[in-house]
Amino acid sequence: MKITEHIENANGKTLFSFELIPPLKGQSIQGIYNAIDPLMEFKPPFIDVTSLREDYIYKEHQNGLLEKLSYRKRPGTIAICAAIMNRYKVDTVPHLLCGGFTKGETENALIDLQFLGIENVLVLRGDARRGDATFIPTEGGHCYATELLQQVVNMNNGKYLHEDYEGIEKTNFCIGVAGYPEKHFEAPNLKADFKYLKQKVDMGANFIVTQMFFDNQKYFDFVNGCRANGINVPIIPGLKPITNSKQLSSLAKTFFIDMPEDLCDVINACKDEKAVREAGIEWMINQCKELIKFGVPVLHFYTMSNAGPTRKIAEAIF
Ligand code: FAD
Repeated sequence: MKITEHIENANGKTLFSFELIPPLKGQSIQGIYNAIDPLMEFKPPFIDVTSLREDYIYKEHQNGLLEKLSYRKRPGTIAICAAIMNRYKVDTVPHLLCGGFTKGETENALIDLQFLGIENVLVLRGDARRGDATFIPTEGGHCYATELLQQVVNMNNGKYLHEDYEGIEKTNFCIGVAGYPEKHFEAPNLKADFKYLKQKVDMGANFIVTQMFFDNQKYFDFVNGCRANGINVPIIPGLKPITNSKQLSSLAKTFFIDMPEDLCDVINACKDEKAVREAGIEWMINQCKELIKFGVPVLHFYTMSNAGPTRKIAEAIF
C-alpha cells in the first residue's frame, strides 16, 4: 500500500514508522531482523531502508603502488526491502539516490521494485562521498533529486529511458522526498529550499520526510512555510533521540542542525552516559507528545538499526 493511503486510512491517528541502515558488507541480515523484532508490536505500516553510494578505498600492491577502488560499504537496500516485506508483511520504502547510480541502473532498480510489489520510494540526491568536498554526480546519473524524481514520474507515465510506446507497463510509485526544517546546508536560504521543494511536489512528489530536529518549533515553522508556499502533501517528521553526549556536536555537525540550549543543559548535567541516554529518550518522548498534538501523520524514527531507544519512546507514546 502507498504511504499516502496508510496516512489516509489512519483517519488522523499518528502512525509509527522507522528507518534502518543496511548491514556492512559481509554481515548477515539477522542484524536487520534484530532491529525490527522489538518494534513490530507498535505496528509500523512501513519501514524505510537507506542507501549508501560508493566510497573509494586504496588497495596497496606489492610494488607499493596504491590502487583506488570503488567500494559500496552497505549494499543490499532493495533485497533488504523485499526480505522485510516477505517476513513481516509490512510495506517498505527503499531510498533511491542520484549519487552512485546511472540512469540505466536506476531504471533497472525501479523495474525490480515494481516486480517485487514495492510501491513506495524516497528519492534523494545522496550525500557526498567521504573524501569528496562536495557532491559529485555519477557519470550518466542525476545531479539533483528533481531529476531522479522526474525519471520515476516518467516511468509512472509509461516513459522509460528508451521505450515510450502506447500500452507500455506503467509503474505506480508513491514518491517521497526530503525536507529540511533547518534548511539544506547548501541552500543559500530557506526561500531557495522551498522553491526546489515546491518544484518536487509540483512534479509529482507525494510526501515529504524531514531531516531530524530537536526543537519542534523548527518543524512547525517549516510546515507553515511549506503550506504558505503551496506545498500541501503530508510532511512526516524524522526523529532521532540523543543516545550519547558526543552526539550534541556530532549530529549538529553531520546534519547541519541546531541543538536547543535546554537540551544541551539537560545532557551536560547528566552524571554518566546511562543518564544521557535516559535524558535523550525523555526529551524525545516530550517532542513526540507535542508533535502528536500538532497532528503529525507519522512519527518516523532514525533507528540506525538499533531498536532499543526507539522502543522505549514507542512504549511511552503508542
Ligand atoms: P536535492 O533536492 O537535490 O537538493 C540538494 C541541494 O540543491 C539543496 O540545497 C537544494 O536547495 C538544491 N537544489 C535542489 N534542486 C536544485 C536544482 N534543480 N537546481 C539547483 N539547486 C537545487 N543520504 C544518503 O546518502 N542516503 C540515504 O538513504 C539518505 N536518506 C535520507 C533521508 C531523509 C529523510 C533525509 C532528510 C536525508 C537523507 N539523506 C540520505 C541525505 C541527503 O541525501 C542529503 O541531505 C543530500 O545532501 C541532499 O539530498 P536532497 O534529496 O535533499 O537533494
